[in-house]
Amino acid sequence: MTKGNIRKILIANRGEIAIRIIRACHDAGIIAVAVYSEIDKTAYHVRLADEAYCVGPALARESYLNQRKIIEIAHDCGADAIHPGYGFLAENSEFARLCEKNEIIFIGPKSETIALLGDKLEARRVAIKAGLPVVPGTDYDIQDIKKVSSIAKDIGYPLLVKAAAGGGGKGMRIVQSEDGLVESVESAIREAGSAFGDGRVYFEKYLENPRHIEIQIFADSHGNAVYLGERECSIQRRHQKVIEESPSPIMTPELRKKMGMAAVNIAKESKYLGAGTVEFLVDGNCNFYFLEVNTRLQVEHPVTEMVTGIDLVREQIRVAEGKTLSFKQEDIQPRGHAIECRIYAEDPHQDFMPSTGIVAEYREPSGPGIRVDSGVVSGSEISIYYDPIMAKMIVWGRDREESMERTERALTEYRISGVHSTIGFACSIIRSGGFRKGEYSTGYVDHEFPDRNFECPLSDQARKAAFAAVIFDYMERQKIAIAPKRNSEKQSGWAQYYRNSAVNRLDKVR
Ligand code: ADP
Repeated sequence: MTKGNIRKILIANRGEIAIRIIRACHDAGIIAVAVYSEIDKTAYHVRLADEAYCVGPALARESYLNQRKIIEIAHDCGADAIHPGYGFLAENSEFARLCEKNEIIFIGPKSETIALLGDKLEARRVAIKAGLPVVPGTDYDIQDIKKVSSIAKDIGYPLLVKAAAGGGGKGMRIVQSEDGLVESVESAIREAGSAFGDGRVYFEKYLENPRHIEIQIFADSHGNAVYLGERECSIQRRHQKVIEESPSPIMTPELRKKMGMAAVNIAKESKYLGAGTVEFLVDGNCNFYFLEVNTRLQVEHPVTEMVTGIDLVREQIRVAEGKTLSFKQEDIQPRGHAIECRIYAEDPHQDFMPSTGIVAEYREPSGPGIRVDSGVVSGSEISIYYDPIMAKMIVWGRDREESMERTERALTEYRISGVHSTIGFACSIIRSGGFRKGEYSTGYVDHEFPDRNFECPLSDQARKAAFAAVIFDYMERQKIAIAPKRNSEKQSGWAQYYRNSAVNRLDKVR
């Protein structure tokens, strides 16, 4: 399709990110088309979209990853563009190529750029060419298992075996010494082969307790490329982010400029288009090392939106239409501080195991500085089929202190029942000493909470009492009999229960 105003966008995703994109479409007066799998028929993203089409059965590879079917729907409904969100097909160069071939705008970089940067080894080479410091390691994949021990010795232990096609921590192994090196390489190759159909692995020096800091970049098709500041993403579980903030507590204007320019250089080297993220590891002396480029919108993009005031999804659409960026480097002046807590349906006490079931009660916090990007409502089902993210709570404050205070307050207002959630975990982190001082690294969760003793902002008992009290208040106001009149003994028992609950709740509130 020739560039021009986009009229209709198909969103090849589900959950909170599909909703986020639908909202950007509606702000821009664009028709939003949802696709859904059979079990997502009544999902919230389907209800919010202007049109919705079933894309297949529950299994992702038969629905949200079904490239041909998605293209077919886009054609049939007359969509000019496809927004892939994150996950699923977002970093699939083959899908981007299919869109290009079918003259549908893929909202993201060109397929060649995705292919180039999606390969961690290729991306390392591009980074080196663009003059970026990389983590010491190999610039080739390990082919000869007999040579691993001498290669490892040159790099030094501990080291990390990483999959070239990797993502989501898959195919990654930490190796402390020569013992178990060969086994780790072989199992990483196997895991990468089955997860990505590509078993290439390489070595990186394992940095002890680094910070994970990333730079948001944006480039248009007219040669403009800028950076929009950083996001600190060191609060992780299983090497995956859970709480992010901007600015980073360790950032200085000089370091931001250095990292920002490095990120822009890689954007220029790879002829980047649209929104992207350049990830770095930063050591205790503020030395930074290139990690990878994510060629899509990040889960944590709202913290950047909160401090810059820029709608990144709207800007992605503008750039995809062939327009020039609506801001220049000097226009980007971050203001205040933002923290994001990802709210997953997971049980933090069971090593963050996904928690499936029906979300019985879902009540979001609100008030000054609070934004919630959610994919669920009361009654939504969390299934085994997809990523268990339910929502993201993003909080803005004039400074770090104010955003932490508001985050804590908002987390205690958040109510989710029916499935386990990471609300209590997030609360424990926000309240912890290291986080408050801004002194933390990627190993923080494991170091600080070895026993996984995360608190719950409101105990289960207080939660039940609060719920019971609401019912009690309502019944009293409506003058509804609290229990069947025939059984007076039962009646007084029930009434007593609700009264006690209400009193209990008041105690907790006080
Ligand atoms: P994936 O794409 O699979 O998520 P990344 O390369 O983005 O993998 O790394 C994810 C996380 O793993 C990082 O944020 C960091 O916590 C850890 N990590 C990756 N590489 C290294 C390294 N060389 N040294 C220490 N930690 C690392």
